[in-house]
This record gives sequence, C-alpha cells and structure tokens, in this order.
Amino acid sequence: MATAVVVGAGIGGLSAAIGLRRRGWDVTVLERAPRITAVGAGITLLANGVRALDALGVGAAVRAEGQVEASGGLRTPNGRWLTRIDADAMNRVLGTSAIGIHRATLHRVLHDSLPAGTVVTGTEVGDVAPEGRVDGRVVDLVVAADGINSAVRRRLWPDVPPPAYAGATAWRGVTDEPWRGPLVVAITWGPGAEFGMVPLGDGRVYWFGSVTSPPKAWHDDELAAVRARFGGWHDPIPALMSATTAALRDDLYHLATPVPSYVHGRVALLGDAAHAMTPNLGQGANQAIEDAVVLASCCDPAGDLAAGLAAYDAQRRPRSQRVARAAYQMARIGQGLHNPVAVALRNAVIRLTPDNAGLRQMAGFARWNPPTI
Ligand SMILES: Cc1cc2nc3c(=O)[nH]c(=O)nc-3n(C[C@H](O)[C@H](O)[C@H](O)COP(=O)(O)OP(=O)(O)OC[C@H]3O[C@@H](n4cnc5c(N)ncnc54)[C@H](O)[C@@H]3O)c2cc1C
Repeated sequence: MATAVVVGAGIGGLSAAIGLRRRGWDVTVLERAPRITAVGAGITLLANGVRALDALGVGAAVRAEGQVEASGGLRTPNGRWLTRIDADAMNRVLGTSAIGIHRATLHRVLHDSLPAGTVVTGTEVGDVAPEGRVDGRVVDLVVAADGINSAVRRRLWPDVPPPAYAGATAWRGVTDEPWRGPLVVAITWGPGAEFGMVPLGDGRVYWFGSVTSPPKAWHDDELAAVRARFGGWHDPIPALMSATTAALRDDLYHLATPVPSYVHGRVALLGDAAHAMTPNLGQGANQAIEDAVVLASCCDPAGDLAAGLAAYDAQRRPRSQRVARAAYQMARIGQGLHNPVAVALRNAVIRLTPDNAGLRQMAGFARWNPPTI
C-alpha cells in the first residue's frame, strides 16, 4: 500500500490525512505537540470550506457542531451600518451556509474521523528530503502541513523569505457562557482597527479585535488591553468582552513572497506552510481544507505521483495565492486604513455601493466546488 506522512496535525494536516485515507493511502500524521489539546477560539467556515469538508465526508458532523451564520454586514464604531449582507440571499448564491465553530471543536471532529493511532503526537519532524525521507523513514508522499513557520519549507525551499509581519495584531476570545443578549452579527471597521463576532454552535460567541501595531507590543494583561481599545465601540462589543475571561493575542504574519511551487519531489506543501495569509477574508483554514481535497483527488496511490503532484500545484497555487493577495488588500482598505479623510471616503463609497455588490464580492472566493475524491 502506498504510504504517506503528513507533518503537522492542524486543520490542514488532519484534513489531508482524511482525504488521502479516503483515496486509499496508508497515512501517518506526525505532530510535535505532546498531545492533542483544545486550543484556539472560533473560526468561520465559508461555503468553499464547508463544501470541501463535505467532500472529505465530515461536513454533516461539522454542521451538527457549528452554528449556521446569520445575516451580517459592515458597521462603524458608533454602530452605523455601511452595508448589510442577507444570509439567505448569500446561501442562495452559494448553495450552502457559512458556519461558525470553535476551532477546538472542528479539530476534534477532524481528529475523531481518523482511526486511532493515525496521529502520532510528541514527534517533531526535523529532516525531510525530496525523495520522501522523513527523519530516517522513507515514504511515497510527504505532506508538509506544519504551519506558517514550516520547518519543511525552510529546508526544501530555502530561497523563500520567512513570513513577514503584516503590521497588525489580533486578540481573540470566546464568551464564557452562552450569549443571552441581543446579537446582530457584524464586522466593524474603525480607523486602524477592526472588530468581529461569530456565534458558535454551543451558544457562546467568538469575537476578535485587530489593530495596527508594531510587532511584539505585548501587554501584561491582554484582556484589559483589548477591553480598553474597543470599550467605546457599539453594542454588544463591550458586553461581549466583559462576558469573556481570557483573550489570545497573535501578531499577524503572512507569506508576502509567494512560494514558487507547492511541490518538491515527493513533498507537497499544504495550508499555512504553503500560503499563510492575513485573516481578513477568513479564508486561511478554508484554503487549507481545499488543498487537502484537491491533493487527495490528484494523487492516486496506484498512479503517477509526479503527475498528480504537478496537478495539485497547478490547481492550488494560483487560487490560494490569489486569495492571499486579496486578504492582504482587504487588510489595507479595512483595518489598516487610518487617515480620517481616507476612512470617511472609503465609508462613503461602501454606503453608496448597492448591498448586492458586497454580496457578489464576498461570494467570489466562497464560490468553489470541490473535485470528487
Ligand atoms: C486571528 C486569526 C483569525 C483567523 N480566522 C480564520 C477564520 O475565521 N477562517 C479561516 O479559514 N482561517 C482563519 N485563520 C487562519 C487559520 O487559523 C489558519 O490558516 C489555519 O489554522 C492553518 O492551518 P494549518 O493546519 O495549515 O496550520 P497550523 O494550524 O499552524 O498547524 C500546523 C501544525 O503543525 C505542527 N508542527 C509544526 N512544526 C512541526 C514539526 N516540525 N513536526 C511536527 N509537527 C509540527 C504544529 O504543532 C501544528 O499542530 C485565522 C488566523 C488568525 C491568526
């Protein structure tokens, strides 16, 4: 049986393992963390990611644990609407709803879809060679899903510059208890700052706030810092933060220089290792899941691997890099815009644009149909 090793048990690595197993590969996932634990905050799965999960056979399980996203839109810090997106109209265009889910829940659903023993924790991969060698063992296919700071990418793609700081930092939190108050889902743009909220399947609410900042400008108390930064914004933003007792903080990095190929010999890059992007379109994990489906559909365990990997690169690189570019552009016109005149001008343009134009733009990248595995 053809053998594959996946390096990294994040959302991308687990999705790849599920897809490759469905295709008939004998798969082992090597993860450096000592154990699989519940980490992270929330995540939005857009229609393209949900369809990709359907192709992996786990869409129903994810829907059962997530929350179908409600209508939303874009607001200013005083609560004024710039544009509204009608979820029903969006779902009609896309054929399936976006889902809000806790990252740990999604991770558990993916992990539980694999047979026990597939994921080997406490194993940090150090040495990968293009002919399929992984720390002394030789396999037919290596999938490098080891995240934005991928050691495999550094080793086999030494000319690719390291991830670049995107100029912003993000706090993420989840309310401690199910949210009983009013909640109109929206993204809010202020000068140099953005706030968003996503209801989760268990009734709690995931929220994020990001601001322009130099890197590593840490605070002793990050929750106090985010409450101070967004405390004067419209309801229910202050109340959501008050209902939360822990906040994560991450400086945002991305692969500013596109990787010239996602394939080197028998090694394929996948997920953030291939195309780490800013979170402004909510597409990073969605693109990783797409990668997984396309990789599995291209790579027949009994077929020509070089041709399969070439097809994977050809199908995934242009699209994922286009999404990454668009996410960075979105960062610049959204959270990244500071100048009051420029902000006022942007807001006026958005207000004057018909709501369905925004709908079409948002639908753009989410309109993707997976291949059959
Ligand atoms: C603030 C923020 C909000 C976001 N919101 C969204 C969103 O709403 N929707 C969305 O689609 N995306 C979102 N993203 C992006 C998304 O989180 C990532 O794109 C996605 O998690 C990448 O998954 P991955 O599996 O490629 O990498 P990772 O999740 O980084 O997983 C990599 C795994 O590899 C392991 N590893 C690393 N090195 C080694 C090694 N040498 N040996 C073995 N194991 C190793 C790591 O421990 C880790 O488990 C957001 C990101 C941020 C920062």
